[in-house]
Amino acid sequence: MEQRIYFDHAATTPLDTEVLQKMLPYFTATFGNPDSPHAIGRKATNAVDAARDLIAERIHAKPNEIYFTSGGTESGNWALRGGAYAAKARGKTHIAVSTIEHHAVKETALTLEKEGFQVTWIPVNEGGRVALSDVTAAINEKTGLVAVMTANNETGVIQPVKEIAQIAKEKNCLFFTDAVQAAPYMPINVKEWGVDMLSISAHKFYGPKGCGVLYIRGGVKTERLIVGGEQERGLRGGTVNVPSVVGLAAAYQKNADTMSASNAKIRALRDRFLKEIESLDGVKINGDLGNSLPSVLNLQFEGIHNADFLYKMDLGGVCVAAGSACASASIKPSHVLTAMGLTDEQARSSVRFSFGKSNTEEEIVKAADLTIKTVKELRKFQ
Ligand code: PLP
Repeated sequence: MEQRIYFDHAATTPLDTEVLQKMLPYFTATFGNPDSPHAIGRKATNAVDAARDLIAERIHAKPNEIYFTSGGTESGNWALRGGAYAAKARGKTHIAVSTIEHHAVKETALTLEKEGFQVTWIPVNEGGRVALSDVTAAINEKTGLVAVMTANNETGVIQPVKEIAQIAKEKNCLFFTDAVQAAPYMPINVKEWGVDMLSISAHKFYGPKGCGVLYIRGGVKTERLIVGGEQERGLRGGTVNVPSVVGLAAAYQKNADTMSASNAKIRALRDRFLKEIESLDGVKINGDLGNSLPSVLNLQFEGIHNADFLYKMDLGGVCVAAGSACASASIKPSHVLTAMGLTDEQARSSVRFSFGKSNTEEEIVKAADLTIKTVKELRKFQ
């Protein structure tokens, strides 16, 4: 097989083969519907219950606060729509959302705006971080919900979610955090963080695609997103994706148990990459690297267009991205980078490298070398 260097772990990660082995029986021998009232159904129910217990224990929640979904996008849609409409029933028609949210949350907020909600967009500083004073300023007496992600998918910058949750609580608003990017690298503690809703997605931590969780704190009133059967305590209709739920829990457990060692390895690879490209001028780091996930490096290469860079790197066997996976095909200037004050041109000259636990120093050196060559070559045609 052709050997490619994969530096796009923020887009997705490969399914761990041990996780796959745990999922396989649930496609065949243990194929039951967890809602069926018989022995084959019960085996599936037991597997889903065990997965729910495991995730609850790991994120310091109760099992009945864990809802399985089809991934980070559904969880984000549900948190925002469910939270906003439940708040509207209490006369609150305003939401406050950060300017750097993933499309799953940003587009949902824009849809809510079209449906009559008022939205205040919470700004970030040039390092990509939300200031607590801006959160306070964005909240008014009509605010029902605040949404700020735990860590950004384009820059890796970590947000002060614990402090934001405290502000939201004092102002009597719900607080949702999209922890999809943070989950592979940060131990989640919903109790200590004080969040009302939180989302994760299995394919970011070496689990299957199309499976996620929305944590909803007990006592929080929300509306259903998917109407159907009584699954997920009547709040999310549809037969639970048993193999994927089993995979999500197994992947979360394995990832959490190996997190500190893999974070150290990934951070060292990222720093090595930066060192290897040190000789190249006109390079800037987008985002506050001191407050960032170990895996993401967003770099601005003066005088290049990221679409050309990605194309040439791909031809050379290195997979990198321009930003979020959903936007990278269109290569629009990133809303995250422009929110941090970059011009459209600067945003278009930016590239996201996201490293993973299987990357090697050899790959880092090779890709850094190709990066230097590619940037120099593209600059000739400026
Ligand atoms: N939220 C963030 C921060 C993400 O990075 C992503 C995926 O890139 C999502 C949500 C969407 O998750 P999913 O791909 O599981 O729908």
